[in-house]
Amino acid sequence: MSIHHITAIAGDPQRNLDFYTGTLGLRLVKVTVNFDDPGTYHFYLGDELGRPGSILTFFPWPRGRPGRHGTGQVGAVSLAIPPASLGFWLERLLSQGVKHEGPTRRFGEQVLELGDPDGLLLELVASRRVSGVGPWEEGPVPAEHAVRGLYGATIWEDGDKGTAGLLQATMGLRPVGEEGNRLRFESASEGIGTVVDLRRTQGFWSGSGGVGTVHHVAFRSQSDQEQLARREELEGLGLGVTPVLDRQYFRSIYFREPGGVLFEIATEAPGFAVDESPAELGTRLQLPPMYQASREQIEQSLPPLRLPLAAAREG
Ligand code: ZN
Repeated sequence: MSIHHITAIAGDPQRNLDFYTGTLGLRLVKVTVNFDDPGTYHFYLGDELGRPGSILTFFPWPRGRPGRHGTGQVGAVSLAIPPASLGFWLERLLSQGVKHEGPTRRFGEQVLELGDPDGLLLELVASRRVSGVGPWEEGPVPAEHAVRGLYGATIWEDGDKGTAGLLQATMGLRPVGEEGNRLRFESASEGIGTVVDLRRTQGFWSGSGGVGTVHHVAFRSQSDQEQLARREELEGLGLGVTPVLDRQYFRSIYFREPGGVLFEIATEAPGFAVDESPAELGTRLQLPPMYQASREQIEQSLPPLRLPLAAAREG
């Protein structure tokens, strides 16, 4: 299974949106609330439709405490850019005053490391894997250089807790190499969201959730049947998997992998155009049916936002 989306915790919602839609040039494809906590926004960013594999999502906690990066977490989120776009991105980060390191070489590819405004560790990987993955043509970044989607995720693990075994046996990833303390796994499919690195460090402190950390990583199930089959398998392993939950834009199950990271398996269907047209994605707060009746109350409790597309259309 390749990656469907990665969800992280942000601080100030506006600052989060400005960075990801402005500096990184992703499209905001959905503004909704955390279905388990409707007083918190849930932003989805990705390509023009928010296709599986392109999606990065955030729960902004304006008054939240910073988390601590450490083991038992997805320590870094990697985004894929075209191989020839490295120079463009170096210059863009410099001109926008975004601190970064690199490029460094990893498994034969160039990697730029940076932090988002809340300290979430991001990487831009210049990769041939994006050949054949189209850009969002109308973003602020010239289409030829635009972020194509997720490259992958790096899980930090204290020693060998069993994550590697689960990635292979249940998640359908195969080990493809080792560099330093980094084990690389790949899904069978091509394109974006296909890489999971496992960084094994012994005795490194354990992470704790909070602003600037990843909340969970979701893998991509092509059908409800496949999701149910995985669910049964996980239950058999005694991993405490949730029932199938309706997330409006996909159906999900959640469980904690043996190293402590929250995993989700999400269906590809129905996608983000289920409650607004592709042209209007992300231009207005969308609520699932269960919260429709309390729209006014929910709107009043959420901090006001300037949405990028709405602003562009008005301006
Ligand atoms: Zn999720």
